[in-house]
Amino acid sequence: MTMIDISVTLSTATAEWPGDTPFSCGWSMQLAAGANVNVSTLTTSPHVGTHADAPLHVRDGAAGSDALPLDAFIGPATVLDVSRQASALDRAALRAAGLGATPARLLLRTGRSIAAGPFPAAWPALTAECAASLASEGLRLLGVDCPSVDVRESASLAVHHALFDGGAQILENLDLSRVAAGTYELVAVPVKLGGLDAAPVRAVLRSSHVGA
Ligand SMILES: [Zn+2]
Repeated sequence: MTMIDISVTLSTATAEWPGDTPFSCGWSMQLAAGANVNVSTLTTSPHVGTHADAPLHVRDGAAGSDALPLDAFIGPATVLDVSRQASALDRAALRAAGLGATPARLLLRTGRSIAAGPFPAAWPALTAECAASLASEGLRLLGVDCPSVDVRESASLAVHHALFDGGAQILENLDLSRVAAGTYELVAVPVKLGGLDAAPVRAVLRSSHVGA
């Protein structure tokens, strides 16, 4: 059994969405200062690093991070390399990238990830129509290695809405740089933050095929 960590390290070096609260941390107690323990403190937007969005992110009154359906975040997942596709990913583009029947969980490797360091200037995204049709065909979760399932300049966040409206969950800022296209088992359970708009996850892919 091979296990691949597809989480971005959350640290002061992690690129946040421009204008969002960055990750920062410090020490409130330190052994070196005479305390009996080391205790850290941290401040961050929950959208920094690898995380699950909650419907509350885009709609008042919708489900928060502690109400996300855990079964969507555990189970078979298809990794698809769309790094060579045009920026608007429709059904034809997904077919061209090798996607067959709609999977329960789809992870898109765009190659534009904060895992590489800086915040990417742009990245490809599903069209809202494509997101809605995938959800209607049973997609439970869409994960991306880029910072958003929508394009960077989107104001409507139409793909977020299409996925949540169709009952599909969202993972963002994955690190798929070491993952080949194929089918894996995903384990990416969100932290149980009460009633927030997003939650950090530790995302892992497991495969019975070495190098798959
Ligand atoms: Zn987000």
